[in-house]
Amino acid sequence: MTGWCAQILTLYPDMFPGPLGQSLAGKALEAGIWHLDVLDIRGFARDKHRTVDDTPAGGGPGMVMKPDVVAAAIDAGREKQDLPLLVMSPRGRPLSQERVAALAEGPGVAVLCGRFEGIDQRVIDARGGEEVSVGDVVLSGGEIAGMALIDAAVRLLPGVMGAGQSAEEESFTNGILEYPQYTRPQSWEGHEIPPVLLSGHHGEIEKWRRRQAEQDTKVRRPDLWARYTAKTND
Ligand code: SAH
Repeated sequence: MTGWCAQILTLYPDMFPGPLGQSLAGKALEAGIWHLDVLDIRGFARDKHRTVDDTPAGGGPGMVMKPDVVAAAIDAGREKQDLPLLVMSPRGRPLSQERVAALAEGPGVAVLCGRFEGIDQRVIDARGGEEVSVGDVVLSGGEIAGMALIDAAVRLLPGVMGAGQSAEEESFTNGILEYPQYTRPQSWEGHEIPPVLLSGHHGEIEKWRRRQAEQDTKVRRPDLWARYTAKTND
């Protein structure tokens, strides 16, 4: 196996590659720039019913993924390749472009996908898992969150984005959102493309984009804006 490794620990192995087999990530997968290694957590259950979950200690609804089974899956993955372990969880630290870019520079990532009410905390702590969240929403499982993380990392791998697709000017890379985009037709349902974009004046276009990016960030993401202004005033 070559390239950046995305190792997935999941109860739903058939969900992969799924969307990661399409478009940019899919082409890169085919080209061998990265590869997938999917481990079925259920395969590490030891009893004849292949039990992977049990009721929550302390009571309450739902089920919790068992530490012994999850640990066996993590350890088997590590035997193959030692990768940073990212645990998908709404309780985790919000994923950032900065973190994704750092992961893209490494050997790859092991992604542990939760189901039910989540995973026994002891196994996350004992195996040094880094809990990350893809937003303040609750998904039904970690697979889609893991796909989001992998997609974001894969597009940054060398050779994945063409010359026409730059990661340098994107949202978050400079601490603010990207400027809004427009394309032909020039007039659509009576709405015009901002004239400066058609002026051919690169200096003016750049200034306009910068202003739009700052304005939009201020209004849409006051949290980003506060950090950005604190940094630029340093
Ligand atoms: N009871 C948990 C939610 C469990 S959702 C709680 O309230 O915190 C089941 C699984 O989906 C989680 O274990 C996690 O792997 C995944 N998941 C749900 N929302 C997520 C999010 N915002 N980011 C990353 N993973 C998430």
